[in-house]
Amino acid sequence: MAKAEGAGGAARGTRGTRSSSKAELERLPYSIRDVADGGLVFERLKSSIKYDWRDYVALVALYEDGTPFAVLAAVILSQNTTDKNSVKAYLSLREKIGVDPKSIAEAPVERIAEAIKLAGLARQKAEALKGAAAKVLELGGEEALVKLDPETLKRELLQVRGVGPKTVDVFLSAYRRVGVFAVDTHARRIAVRWGLARPNASYDEVSRALLEFFGPERAEEAHRLLIALGRLYCKAKRPRCGECPLRDVCPYPRARQS
Ligand code: SF4
Repeated sequence: MAKAEGAGGAARGTRGTRSSSKAELERLPYSIRDVADGGLVFERLKSSIKYDWRDYVALVALYEDGTPFAVLAAVILSQNTTDKNSVKAYLSLREKIGVDPKSIAEAPVERIAEAIKLAGLARQKAEALKGAAAKVLELGGEEALVKLDPETLKRELLQVRGVGPKTVDVFLSAYRRVGVFAVDTHARRIAVRWGLARPNASYDEVSRALLEFFGPERAEEAHRLLIALGRLYCKAKRPRCGECPLRDVCPYPRARQS
């Protein structure tokens, strides 16, 4: 069983190949959904890729703190950085400031930025955290993150600078267990290589295609499995198709050979 955390080491000794070209993607002979359903692909990923929840900052916040704002704050910290650094930044924020909306709304942005500096883009993320805290307080407190209907909540949170659709979808699926598919860079790349989405598809198009393929009940875990698949095998520049657990159903290796 491959383990996502060992991606760097596991890649050693494999032959590198170039990244996806437009021509290769145009040559996809079929869509993965023509030969396998989402349930089969999900089970294949689950049985062949192992990941540790401690490496996913949203899960660290969920299992260790369990409050909705803590999870939202964790997801904001995870933008454009490694999980390892976002987990460290989250733990530092919790220790130095707190992960409740009131503590964050009251703390100066510089202090927050200092506490989360390991996550990178510290000033930007500190402002996003303060914006999210202010929004949650404006909506009546953390209860709003639990009680507002998902569409209204998404609309409200998207008004916060630095909070985008992926952040909201990760929160909705990890905390609220709403059947939405959060699309990060790995999920997008894989959806395109699988022929589920066009290379220039919008966030919503890719999200809908993956949701339709995997089904709402699998979306949350499938999101994490795709991240692990992207790190281990379906890398941007050197996809390891020859060793990938999906090589027999994925259309992309055939497009590269033709
Ligand atoms: S075979 Fe695996 S690594 Fe290659 S493109 Fe398909 S999913 Fe990605």
